Formats: sequence, structure tokens, C-alpha cells
Amino acid sequence: MNVTVIRRQTCRLCDSSSIERVVELQPIPLSENYSVDRTAVMNAPRYPVDVYMCSDCGHVQQLDVIDSKSLWESYTYFSGNAKGMPEHFQQMADKITRKSRPPENSLVIDIGSNDGSLLKLFKQGGCRVLGIDPASEVAAQANKSGIPTIPSLMSLDLARSIREEHGPAQIICAFNVFAHADDLGEIAECVRTMLAPDGLFFFEAQYLMDIIDGMLIATIFHEHMSHHSAAPMVKFLDRHGLELIAADRAPIQHGSLIGMVQLKGGKRPVENSLENLLKLEDERNLGELETLRAFDAKVQRLRQRTTEFVKKLKNEGATIAGYGAARSGPTLIAQFGLAGVIDYILDDHPQKIGKFESGDGIPVIATSELCARQPDYTVILAWVHSQKIIESCQEYLDKGGQFIVLCPESRVIGKDGNKPI
Ligand SMILES: [Zn+2]
Repeated sequence: MNVTVIRRQTCRLCDSSSIERVVELQPIPLSENYSVDRTAVMNAPRYPVDVYMCSDCGHVQQLDVIDSKSLWESYTYFSGNAKGMPEHFQQMADKITRKSRPPENSLVIDIGSNDGSLLKLFKQGGCRVLGIDPASEVAAQANKSGIPTIPSLMSLDLARSIREEHGPAQIICAFNVFAHADDLGEIAECVRTMLAPDGLFFFEAQYLMDIIDGMLIATIFHEHMSHHSAAPMVKFLDRHGLELIAADRAPIQHGSLIGMVQLKGGKRPVENSLENLLKLEDERNLGELETLRAFDAKVQRLRQRTTEFVKKLKNEGATIAGYGAARSGPTLIAQFGLAGVIDYILDDHPQKIGKFESGDGIPVIATSELCARQPDYTVILAWVHSQKIIESCQEYLDKGGQFIVLCPESRVIGKDGNKPI
């Protein structure tokens, strides 16, 4: 695979060249790439994931952009299978329907529609639906299950042809895509092109304030190009003929921002949620370089403490496993200096067992091996599911095993409770 990486020189939202690096991180390999060839995965190239901030609009972002072909075409994550997602989609579909009240047979478009899980709900509600997703395998699956899906990246040409063929959309959704696309200006123009005069556009993206408060380092990887907050979005959307009229926070993905947008000059008033969130962002100095620099200092301290702790355990002869070969795995291993420390990773994904994790070449074995091997410590790499993993491994804990949880604070959890590292 030929990967192209481009270092952006300007802010993704306002094109300003006044951008500063605010969080320094270790480079990591590209997405999930498990292989039986250990040498190949260990030689996998690493790309930077440092975080930058625009001094003009306050947008926080990655500037090292991997070409979208390499990132998305072989993407095989099915959102319908992900824990908690079906419930979240149901809640979102209910909320969007309540806000938008689409007449029967209205067109609903989902940009980055994945397997069509969200659109399926609108289809059941009597709407026409159309998905757009560049991951060919995932899009094919959606088409097969009756959700018409165009296997392509969003582009202005595509938006124009959709408008021509299907008419204007009453509802457009882009869940996570706003964090996942480099050219957000083009996506905003696509929305403007496809949206009906009284239509609504909804986006969801991980929220910067939650990343900072929760120390969500595991979510900083190449696919997440933007770490959004409301204030920069207001100005950005305005420049593209759109108006942010509501901004809510949701617990999904450990803290997301859900924006509701209309065409500029639309009939709906701005809701209190947006004013309240802008006020909170202002009080928290979320748009200030110093706030991100303080976050960086906290990240560096956490890394240093954790690295010293695990190296000491290793020197004392402890066995250390990792739990969960998730996307966040290589990220946490790199950011917390765990390479050379973890002996094996436990995971039940059939495509991962018996293979080696990308970057460090750590072997992946089934989770049923946990109690058989009884490692002294198990670092939770699938950080989102920490609680559930710990609850399901009581036998391991009873036999004296201990878990290491990395975020928001590193701590060790044993059968008698937990203590900070
Ligand atoms: Zn900017």
C-alpha cells in the first residue's frame, strides 16, 4: 500500500497559517493492521499524531494528513456491531425526528453512513434514505441490507448529482465524519448544496472539552483529524452559508458534541444549548493556547509516571498482558511507552487471534487464556470497555491478577480495590 502523508500548513477550518503545536505525541502506525508476518508489522511505518491549535479561530486539529484512500477504502468497522451504538442511533433518530418533523417520503442523507444502521431507522419511519461511504465492503453490506449507499468519498460533484437525482434533503447527518475528514470546507459546501431550505444538518464529533477533562489520549490517531469545539464551528459554518443553532453534549465515545445546523437565514431560532456551551467554553478558556499546553504537560507527566512504573515491574520479572486489540491499542502502547513491556494481547476477534499487532509485533491470543496464563498485570488497551472487562474477569482478580487502567489517571486495580500509579 502506497501511503501519502501531507503536512497541512493551514487551519482546517479558517485557513489561517497561525497554527502552533500544542500536544506532542509519539508517532503511531496506520490503523488496524494485524498480520501473521511479525517482521512486516514491526517494520510498519509510523506517522505523527501531534496536535495543533489555530491561534485565529481556536480549532484544535492534526496536521499530518494520511491520504483518504489509504485510510478508508479497506475500512471494515461496522458501526451496527459496536457496543452501545444501536441504542445511540435510536436515540439520535428520535431526537432528529422530533426536531425536524420530516414530512413523509422526505429525503434523509447520511454522510459516512457505514453499514446503514442510522438510515435504517429513518427508512422505517417512512423516509427515503441515501448513504454515502467510501469503505467499499461496508457500503456493499449496507446496499445488500436494503439501504441504498454510494460507495464513495463525499465531493461537491457527487453532492450536485445527488441533488439533481433525488431532490433536496430534509435531513443530512454526518456522525463522526466531521472529525474524520481533512477538507471540511468541501463537506460544508456539500451540505449547503444538498439541504432543503427548511432542512436540518446534524453532526456529531468527539468534543475537545471531554478529551481534555477525560485525558482521552486513546482517541488521538490519524483518522481523528479534528478535535471540535463549538466556538470555531460557528465561524466556520457561517463562512459556508450555514448556521449552528444548537450544540448538545452526549456521553457517546466518552463525550461528543452534537450540532444542529440550518441554512443561513433559516427560520429556526438559535437554541439555549448553543449559547450555554459557548459561555462554558469561554469560561474554561477552551480557545486559548495555554489550556492545551496545560493538557500537554499533564499528558507528558502521565506518560512518564506510567512508563517508569511498568518498566520497574518488568525489571522485577512481572508478566504483563494487554487486554483488547482495539484501534486504541497501538496508540496507548506508543503514548505510554508500553512497547517491549506487554508480552501478549488478549482479544477474541477471529481476524486478530494468532496474528501480531501492528507496530510492536505483540502476539494476539484469545481472552480465554487470561486465567490459564494468569499474567501478574493486565493493561486495558480497549479503554472504552474498562469497566466491563474488569467485571467479567473476577476469577483473574480473585487469583491475584491486577489490571492497569491508563486514562484518565493511571491506576492499578486488584481484588482489594484500586490505587493510583
Ligand atoms: Zn483556524
